[in-house]
Amino acid sequence: MKRLLALLALLAPLLAPLLVLPPAQAQVRAQVRAQSQAQAGTVLETRVIGHSVQGRPIRAYHLGEPGKPVVVVIATMHGDETASRRILLSLVHGTPVRGVDLWLVPTYNPDGAAHHRRVNAHGVDLNRNYPYKWQRLTGHYNSGPRPASEPETKAMMAFLQQVRPLRVVSFHQPLHGIDIDTKQRAFARRLAHFLQLPVKRFECGGACHGTMTMWFNHGFAGGALTAEYGAHPSRREMTKQAPRRLLRAIHATR
Ligand SMILES: [Zn+2]
Repeated sequence: MKRLLALLALLAPLLAPLLVLPPAQAQVRAQVRAQSQAQAGTVLETRVIGHSVQGRPIRAYHLGEPGKPVVVVIATMHGDETASRRILLSLVHGTPVRGVDLWLVPTYNPDGAAHHRRVNAHGVDLNRNYPYKWQRLTGHYNSGPRPASEPETKAMMAFLQQVRPLRVVSFHQPLHGIDIDTKQRAFARRLAHFLQLPVKRFECGGACHGTMTMWFNHGFAGGALTAEYGAHPSRREMTKQAPRRLLRAIHATR
């Protein structure tokens, strides 16, 4: 016993720095812990709804109050339109949301985002790959070899079939407007009002075939619409203003 105590006394100066963290480091750890706790209170569930062609997970974050109207918000369907995912991520990392059962998919096309390309890793435009009025398109709107050929398309179809939202908002760039040519026109106007964007008719860039919103609007009771920001919305708008405005538009609070 004596020998053990002597050994501990000898080792104490060596062990002490391992047991006591320097104040700065301890502070950082406390901050990280606080952040993850805040997020844990906000995010009810993180669900991997599928994987991209290159195996990247597609994550949906569940926020809000189950039992309230279900709203799904999707960003980065086109990998070179990444600004609006900041809106979704700041909600994920913010305080708890009330009044709505909310699902957020900030990076729907993770391969496209990784390579800063519109299309997925097969070169397919996911927003022309859905199995409603699908047509073989090439070039900018490459629709893939057949309807729902892409894993990203299949993942979103299965997810929407599971959660059956009342509303789907699909964020894009750079057309700067809310598509009024949709099933829920009153909601389109409401969203335009709160997000401070004009209502417009996009008409799918002249290629209204196999879009996600068309597929959803045809097969579900709920309504889906496209919301487009401009080419370069400010960081402040994406992280501070738009998250608040989006919540108001969908009757949610924080
Ligand atoms: Zn787009």
